[in-house]
Amino acid sequence: MAWLFLVLSPTINAMQPPEQTPRQRIIELITGTRLSSYQLAQMLGIPERQVEGHLTHVVKTIARDKTRRFILNPARCHDCDFVFRDRSRLTSPSRCPQCRSEAIAAPRYGIDLFAPQLE
Ligand SMILES: [Zn+2]
Repeated sequence: MAWLFLVLSPTINAMQPPEQTPRQRIIELITGTRLSSYQLAQMLGIPERQVEGHLTHVVKTIARDKTRRFILNPARCHDCDFVFRDRSRLTSPSRCPQCRSEAIAAPRYGIDLFAPQLE
């Protein structure tokens, strides 16, 4: 059946390979903690740009999951503490709009599990 998988895998995303996909690994790695895309790139051995691409899909996956919540700790300027709250993109900004510093702390991503509801 290996040939079948090789034929179908580029087009059919729903058909997961037996090993974990990068997105599944990212979800596992950031659950209960906060990591930057740089750290994730190191851990997965893939370029940071690819990590950011996967993260946008992870956000959508988690948004559909009522038991988990995606957390984005926004990027922050080291020099004036400006926080990049309004950024809708996940990539790291390169310069502070307030003081023009390039010492920007990268945004960090995480997934929290919702605690069981007490009724
Ligand atoms: Zn600044």
